[in-house]
Amino acid sequence: MNAKQPPPRAAAAAGCGPIRPDNGQPTAPLRSRVFETVRSAGHIPRIDVAKSLGVSPASVTAQVGELMEMGLLNEVPDTARPTARGRPPVALAVRADAGFVVGLKLSRTQHTALLVDLAGQPIAETTLACGPRRRSLDQCLTEAATLFDRLLAQTGLTRGDISCLGLGLPGMVDHAAGRVVWSPMLTGTDLALRGAAEDRFGVPVAVDNDANLVTLAELWFGKGRAMADFAVITIEQGVGMGLVIGHRLYRGAQSLGMELGHTKVQMDGALCQCGQRGCLEAYVADYALVREASTALDMIQEDRESMAMTLERLYDQAKAGNQAARVIFRRAGRFLALGLANVVHLFDPPLIILSGERMRYDYLYAEDVLAEMQRLTLNRATAPQAIQIHAWGDLMWARGAAALALSHMTEAMAAPQ
Ligand SMILES: [Zn+2]
Repeated sequence: MNAKQPPPRAAAAAGCGPIRPDNGQPTAPLRSRVFETVRSAGHIPRIDVAKSLGVSPASVTAQVGELMEMGLLNEVPDTARPTARGRPPVALAVRADAGFVVGLKLSRTQHTALLVDLAGQPIAETTLACGPRRRSLDQCLTEAATLFDRLLAQTGLTRGDISCLGLGLPGMVDHAAGRVVWSPMLTGTDLALRGAAEDRFGVPVAVDNDANLVTLAELWFGKGRAMADFAVITIEQGVGMGLVIGHRLYRGAQSLGMELGHTKVQMDGALCQCGQRGCLEAYVADYALVREASTALDMIQEDRESMAMTLERLYDQAKAGNQAARVIFRRAGRFLALGLANVVHLFDPPLIILSGERMRYDYLYAEDVLAEMQRLTLNRATAPQAIQIHAWGDLMWARGAAALALSHMTEAMAAPQ
C-alpha cells in the first residue's frame, strides 16, 4: 500500500473470501461474480475484474453500475498503481458500511460472537461463559440473544441493520435444511434451528457445524484463501473436520459429511458422546482425556464445569514429567495419528491444517505423533503429508460464522430479483 494514501484500512485493501482463479461458478449470476471478485481482491480496477472473469469490460461496467447503485461497491484511488501526477487511477472496493453480519459460535461452555462489515472487517466481538450441561434449543437461543444484543450495544446498530446471522455449533448440522440432527450441547434431536432462530431474531440465519466454521475461516481469512483443496481438522470438545474442494466447502449430500470424530477406530470401544462406541473422538477429544485422567491419576471431577481445569492440570503434570499423564496424551496422540492417516488415505489433501485451541497441547501434535501418521500412510513414502498447526482462539470460529453469513448474504444478493 502507498503510505501517503488515507484509509481504507489494510484489511479492506487485502480483501477477504476465497481467491478463485475462475472467480466463481460461471453459472452464477455475473453480478455476484463481479462482487466476489472485488471483495476477494480488496481493491481492483474494472479492467482487471473483466480480465479475471473473462468477460468484456462493457459488461463489467454495467454490473458495477448496478452494484454501485445498490450501494455495495464504491470507487477508491488505486493505491497499487499511483501515478506521478494527475488523477490517480480508480479501483473498485466493497463499501464496508453497506451491510453488517454477525457470526455466532456456540459451544458447551463458551459462546463467541463477532460483528463484521460487508468487507469482512471485524467491528465488535464478545464472549459469554455458560454452564456445560445440555440445554434446550430455546435456552440456547436465549443465550445467543444475549450475545447478539451485547454486540449490537457496542456498535449502536439494531437487529434490523444485520443482513445475516451465521450460527455454528458442535454436532451434526444439516446446513441446507437448517436443522440440527444431533448436538452434544443440546437436548433433543432433529431440531429446526434456522427457523427458530429466524423467528427469534427477525433476521436471515445460516447454520453449520463448528468444524465447517473454522474451515470457512481458513478459506475466507486464512491460509486457505488461495488454496483450491485442503482439509481442516479440529480438536476441541469433539474432533471435527472440514474439507475444501475446488475453493468450496464440501459438505456432503445431506450436509452431514466429514464427521471424522465419529469414524470408528475400535470395535466395541470407548463410549462416545454421540452414544455409539469406538469413535475417534472418544479417544482424542477433551472429555476422553479427562475420563482417562480421572481414572489413571485420581483426578476426581466433582462437576463437569471443571473439565477445562482438569485438562489444564493433566497438561501441567505431563509437562512436569508425570509418566501417567504423558501416557494419556501419547495414547490420544496415537489415535489422532490413526485418524489423520485415514484422512490422507481417503483424500490425499495437499495440506491438512490442525486447528483449534487444543493445539497448544503440543503432545497432540508432537513430532512422534506426526511421524506415526506418516508411518501409517502408505502412499506418502516419498513426499510426507504437509501439516500446519494453527492454534487459533475461539474468535477464529466466530470469524468462520461471519464468513458463513457473508457468503449467504452474497448468494441472496445475487439471486434474480
Ligand atoms: Zn461418536
